[in-house]
Amino acid sequence: MSHGEYDLVIAGGGVAALTAGLTSARAGRKTRVLTGPSLGGQLISIERIDGYPGFPDGVPGYDLCPIIQEQAVGAGAEFDAAEATGLHSDDGRWRVTTRQGAVGARAVVIATGTTSKTLGIPGEERLRGKGISHCASCDAPLLRGRSVGVVGGGDSALQEALTLAQHVARVIILHRGSAFSAQSAYVQQVQQTPRIEVRFGTIVEEAVGNDGLTSVRTRTVNNGKADDLELAGLFVYVGLAPATTWLNGVLALDASGRIPVDGAMRSGLRGVFAAGTVRSGSAGRAAAAAGDGAVAAVAADQYLRDGTWSV
Ligand SMILES: Cc1cc2nc3c(=O)[nH]c(=O)nc-3n(C[C@H](O)[C@H](O)[C@H](O)COP(=O)(O)OP(=O)(O)OC[C@H]3O[C@@H](n4cnc5c(N)ncnc54)[C@H](O)[C@@H]3O)c2cc1C
Repeated sequence: MSHGEYDLVIAGGGVAALTAGLTSARAGRKTRVLTGPSLGGQLISIERIDGYPGFPDGVPGYDLCPIIQEQAVGAGAEFDAAEATGLHSDDGRWRVTTRQGAVGARAVVIATGTTSKTLGIPGEERLRGKGISHCASCDAPLLRGRSVGVVGGGDSALQEALTLAQHVARVIILHRGSAFSAQSAYVQQVQQTPRIEVRFGTIVEEAVGNDGLTSVRTRTVNNGKADDLELAGLFVYVGLAPATTWLNGVLALDASGRIPVDGAMRSGLRGVFAAGTVRSGSAGRAAAAAGDGAVAAVAADQYLRDGTWSV
């Protein structure tokens, strides 16, 4: 069953998709945004987005994303919580399938972003949502006065450790490497926060607990020593996997599973663009994802006008 014909269909609900929707609708294009499971994407649960222009003190994701969506709706973009399940070529047009039906368009922007990688350790699946989490701002208030662990050493891990430290008694950062890869501003803040303890060279091997997480089993890299650490929460930030499996090989991906694009966000398929962290070479910041969304929508508008598909 077809759920309508559009100039542009955008798959994704993060800042890249919302900005593409806004820009396309402002250009007068009939635009549909399929947001998938999480409107606002990775940003929706972030307590304080740093480095986004216009907000010198940061801005909560749950404040920023609805504003961009409202702006896009005001410009005429249509929103739908459906998840894209496939992309098909159909006589010079594209069809994006969802469980509720298909949507047709001459151009498509893929902005499905990333999902958080898991540790792949025993107990992790069973205890997800029962102490194991990827969202500090969602779960920190439930863990007041308790000890929690954060796994990872990049920006996300340190930023979320700082959010957790505002709520819980003690945060232990468990990082397998011997140094952080995060921005120096976050490293400095972590070093100056007495409630945060750092354990480098530490691997988390198992999550333990029945109804909820009670401890984790760790191993020290250089001497192989095992340890049991009592924790009520474990927050995992060990990288992001691009949400491209739904494309089922219709589009060539790079080695990391992301979509290669040119400077106008054009993919290898005529009429198909990619924007945000799902594309190869994304800067990984929210402002860059928003910029990608705007670039893709402007290039799509030009493509719809004159069929241009080269720089
Ligand atoms: C913990 C953490 C903290 C961060 N802090 C900052 C910060 O302070 N400042 C900063 O600039 N950046 C920060 N970032 C990075 C920032 O979140 C990303 O750059 C930004 O969210 C990328 O936006 P996006 O739209 O490309 O993708 P995402 O935010 O990943 O959004 C993807 C969207 O696609 C949807 N989707 C997925 N699959 C489908 C499908 N099949 N069909 C339809 N929709 C689908 C999802 O529902 C989601 O809405 C942080 C990231 C993390 C993880």
